[in-house]
Amino acid sequence: MSKKENIQCSFCGRDKAETDVLIAGLDAHICDRCIEQAHQIVLEESSEKGLGDIQKVDFDIKKPREIKEFLDQYMIGQTATKRAMAVAVYNHYKRLLQEKDDENEVEIEKSNIILVGETGTGKTLIARTIARMLSVPFAIVDATVLTQAGYVGEDVETILTRLLQSADYDVSKAEMGVVFIDEIDKIARKGDNPSITRDVSGEGVQQALLKLLEGTVVNVPPKGGRKHPEQKFVEIDTTNILFIAGGAFSGIDKIISKRLNMQAVGYHALKSGDQIDKENMLQYIIPKDLKAFGLIPEIIGRLPVLSYMNPLDAKTLRAILTEPKNAITKQYQKLFDIDGIKLSFTNDALDYIVERAVEYKLGARGLRSLCESILTDAMFEMPSDDSKKLEITKKYASQKLTKTTLHKLRAAS
Ligand code: ADP
Repeated sequence: MSKKENIQCSFCGRDKAETDVLIAGLDAHICDRCIEQAHQIVLEESSEKGLGDIQKVDFDIKKPREIKEFLDQYMIGQTATKRAMAVAVYNHYKRLLQEKDDENEVEIEKSNIILVGETGTGKTLIARTIARMLSVPFAIVDATVLTQAGYVGEDVETILTRLLQSADYDVSKAEMGVVFIDEIDKIARKGDNPSITRDVSGEGVQQALLKLLEGTVVNVPPKGGRKHPEQKFVEIDTTNILFIAGGAFSGIDKIISKRLNMQAVGYHALKSGDQIDKENMLQYIIPKDLKAFGLIPEIIGRLPVLSYMNPLDAKTLRAILTEPKNAITKQYQKLFDIDGIKLSFTNDALDYIVERAVEYKLGARGLRSLCESILTDAMFEMPSDDSKKLEITKKYASQKLTKTTLHKLRAAS
């Protein structure tokens, strides 16, 4: 028998014939089963360490400028926030890489983000787009459903249940995810004074959120719901999870303008020539305003990157309709294209849609409902007839958008 025929796996001793694949190394061989087993061990080891080295290498960290360019593809305007987010995300992931390398060095703190802006101005969109760019799990949670442990509602831990679900129950992936906490303003305590009575859905929840934002190991019920003793928990470390909070903070413009007016007569008077843009007070927001609104200082401290969303004017709405990579009109064109129908919009039809969105205060979210109302009849009928082309003109759009439809849309928004 020649030496060659006697090759065995150097790990389990199986003969070549008993394996599907036997790979040769310098002085040894390894079979397919041992490779699989070894791979499993590597995965387990890396998930025990939290952020495994393997996943680190997979991470393609983009520079802030590249991050902003990516955001630009999906989102119109909001330059200040895009820049702030790009830097925050870049620093967040730099921090992740630094953490294991030089443990005794300066510790970089987390750069969780808080976005202030009216509803429909793109807070969720920007958070979602960042998660898409990073290819990490993403979860949206509504702060209004959260209550202090022991009260009716959801414990703050369920935030992580969502993230775990979106990571397909892969804990190590979830631990690098992005969480968007919507309506953070709704858990503000009422007024600037600490309340003596219990504030179940306000300050209590803020207190419960603190640890999560900062980084801690949390026992998470994988299927959600209330914690109960028989339930099995999954441990999730939130240290590397990026939290983005968003809220409309309605009325905060008054707090800002009051502060600015006070400053104007005081020591910090704005330089002459610095005109205050009264239409967009949010651009002057500082953490102190969030405190005056009712967020506790500890929460504000754990959301150190504060940025604002500009209100959407007609020009921006018009661009939102056609320009982003997955702009609403492009989506409908694709839908029609599947049936072999070429859909187009004339410029005055697009202007008409934007005018209606502005007139009925429907914002960016309304653009979609407006297009849906205009196109529903065509989407119903055209797949069954032979037409291959549909041009939406102003006349066509206005015929489909009756006053009743518009009123209904406004009521629904
Ligand atoms: P918010 O979270 O602030 O309430 P969303 O992110 O849910 O707002 O935005 C509502 C809708 O408007 C989404 O469909 C989003 O795609 C669109 N939108 C809002 N702002 C922009 C923008 N600047 N660029 C592109 N689309 C936008």
